[in-house]
Amino acid sequence: MDVTRDEIIEILGDMDVKLPANTKLPLDALQQRLTRAIELAQAPVTSDEVDPSKLKKWSIKASKKKPMIDVMGAVTWKEAAMLMAPVGQRNPMEYINAFISLRNAVVEIGVNWDEGSKLAVVEDEKMAYGFSMRIVDVYALTDDIPVFIVVYEHGSGSLFSRRAGIHFLSEPVPGMKPGQDGVEIKTTFLAQKLLLKVLEMNAKYLPESYAPALRPNEKKHGHKISFLLPIVPLTMREIGSLSKDVGCFICGNETASRCAGCQTVSYCGKVCQKADWARHKVECKNRSLENGTWLEIPLSGMGYNGMFVQSINKFSTVQGFGNDKLKADATSKLRSDADGPPENVHGDALFIIKIQVPPPGGMRAPIMIYDRQRSIEIYHRFDADRSGYEALEETARRTGYLGQKIYRYAKRTGVKKLSICLDREPSAEATKW
Ligand SMILES: [Zn+2]
Ligand SMILES: [Zn+2]
Repeated sequence: MDVTRDEIIEILGDMDVKLPANTKLPLDALQQRLTRAIELAQAPVTSDEVDPSKLKKWSIKASKKKPMIDVMGAVTWKEAAMLMAPVGQRNPMEYINAFISLRNAVVEIGVNWDEGSKLAVVEDEKMAYGFSMRIVDVYALTDDIPVFIVVYEHGSGSLFSRRAGIHFLSEPVPGMKPGQDGVEIKTTFLAQKLLLKVLEMNAKYLPESYAPALRPNEKKHGHKISFLLPIVPLTMREIGSLSKDVGCFICGNETASRCAGCQTVSYCGKVCQKADWARHKVECKNRSLENGTWLEIPLSGMGYNGMFVQSINKFSTVQGFGNDKLKADATSKLRSDADGPPENVHGDALFIIKIQVPPPGGMRAPIMIYDRQRSIEIYHRFDADRSGYEALEETARRTGYLGQKIYRYAKRTGVKKLSICLDREPSAEATKW
């Protein structure tokens, strides 16, 4: 079950690592990036090995452990809004976004275990692909982080329609009451590919000698052994570092330098840069940012008295789930997002921003400014900075799509400052988002 190039780009996008759909990054670089994203999204494994024989069993009763629903992770604002929608009007995100879908499935597996059931069948809506999975046991990786040891089989076609699935579900499970059912968990098709990748990656951490007892049908079907950990959203910084390099303009390999003339195209090295010079020459002259007109706008936190209203970033984590460590991280992140300027994930580097100006003739609603991965999301208010507002508005009216939407180069010129180059347009390839 290979994950294709387009699927990797889509999954990374679902994890908020937005690469341009036409990126020339080679497949192995994309695969590495997905692997890294998954590592970062899982509760950290700090040693080289996860050896169940050296870990304590996870138990709610024996300690003051919280129920799984509280332990399994945090939700983002985006997801909170989705989950708060009335039943029946639920945002279809859950069934579109592979990452959210996977995270929900893992939470369900945890909650299910709390209720005494150890079997799960994970399938997509069309039952094109599925997993049968049994939780062998749950151990404490740390006081706050459970490790679910699982045995699983995956394949195409509905598991329920297959003999194997029926045997899997009906065979007695040690520690499970007779008559207690497994659960059926719906995910997207891509979420299952992602789940498979997670399981394959995690299996490498188990010692080779570790061999929990399999039930006869699991043995017969060659069930594999791995583990699951809580899966959490990536932080802004992680998203920033995973989205940064979109590949050499010519060959797609990792970039090593930018064109010194304009700073707007990146290459893997001299060979590709030279190969592109005949094409880029003219564009380079037009794009030279040094002689461009730069507008500097201040950034400040939320509040009616603030110069600018900056939204709480949609990736900010909301509290409400009880994993103390995750919660502490989330709370500090939320606070800094709400009160301070957006975190600088770009360093000194130039990046492209999208500027959306309200339609002409109406109220002068805030101008929205954001980068591809939305590490920065600004609502620029007319009453707070008339001249800056008018400069952006004028530029958009004159050069933008419908006079409302433009892309420009920007850089952070201070913790609370963003500079925007008004009169240089990034290339069309760089602005497909
Ligand atoms: Zn190259
Ligand atoms: Zn150039």
